[in-house]
Amino acid sequence: MLIDHYGRQIRYLRVSVTDRCNLRCLYCTHHHFEWLPPEEILSYEEIYRVVRAAVSLGLERVRLTGGEPLVRRNFVGLVELLSGIRGLRDLSLTTNGLLLPEMAQELRKAGLRRVNVSLDTLRPDRFLEITGFDGLSRVLSGIEAALSAGLNPVKINTVIMRGINEDEIPEMVRLTISEPLHLRFIEFMPVGEGADWGPERFVPLSEIMERATEVGELQPAVVEGGGPARVFRLPEARGTVGFIAALSEHFCGSCNRLRLTPEGRLRFCLFSDQEFDLRPYLDRGEEALREALLEAIRYKPASRMDSGRPRRIMRSIGG
Ligand code: SAM
Repeated sequence: MLIDHYGRQIRYLRVSVTDRCNLRCLYCTHHHFEWLPPEEILSYEEIYRVVRAAVSLGLERVRLTGGEPLVRRNFVGLVELLSGIRGLRDLSLTTNGLLLPEMAQELRKAGLRRVNVSLDTLRPDRFLEITGFDGLSRVLSGIEAALSAGLNPVKINTVIMRGINEDEIPEMVRLTISEPLHLRFIEFMPVGEGADWGPERFVPLSEIMERATEVGELQPAVVEGGGPARVFRLPEARGTVGFIAALSEHFCGSCNRLRLTPEGRLRFCLFSDQEFDLRPYLDRGEEALREALLEAIRYKPASRMDSGRPRRIMRSIGG
């Protein structure tokens, strides 16, 4: 079993399938335009091997992220491969949603069950300002396509930034009344050298929650794969509202996750640049990979407090 020094069992792996992205979000990629050379990126077969070995050690959940996973060629093929792994109970995707209109059905058919779409604003001009691309209507169509393809739950990840979108909190919460959408507000995190992060942009979760409750009473609720989110529902609402305090609180004591970078390095904490290179073990058979995973897990830090601000940007570590 993948149990670390502190008794935490690893059940969750976030796989960054590419560092490329079709958006330039100001909190992620903004000033950073270098891509990994294609020959360094793990093939789908190699990702499959890592996941299969980890599942044989008790891993249960995999989230595909990036970069933008849907821009990688034949991404549906990867979903098909991974969804066939016995013992993998939950396969999910985080996407900016731009390519979901044409891909949601195929993804569902390939075995994907649920999806998180990142969306920080409901205003077209702001969407352009935040992401560098005039694509709000495509993302909204992508969300509709995900719902009609039967992906469930469909979650919306919203990063709140002061002076940029904090005034939209009530409007976003209202979305969950009429739509079966599961919104999650995320604190802006100081991750990556290419990001426009500054303390003046940070809105603590307590303030986000206060603004959200302006809409109505939030009652505790449950949603599949809730992870570190605290989840609530407005009376009669079809969806839920979740809150993730990535910075002002921490959940290190119960952290059960690892990250796999596009070039095959394991990362142990979002806030730490410590990595373990799995590449040398990829061609040596499943037993060697299992041993490497068991060795790697020893590097998982007790808490992100030991870590500082990571240099690598979100899209190359699977945000
Ligand atoms: N391209 C996909 C997408 O847009 O969802 C997947 C990768 S993206 C890096 C994953 C998530 O990380 C997004 O929801 C994004 O909002 C979030 N993210 C990126 N940088 C962040 C930051 N500095 N603070 C908080 N969340 C961040």
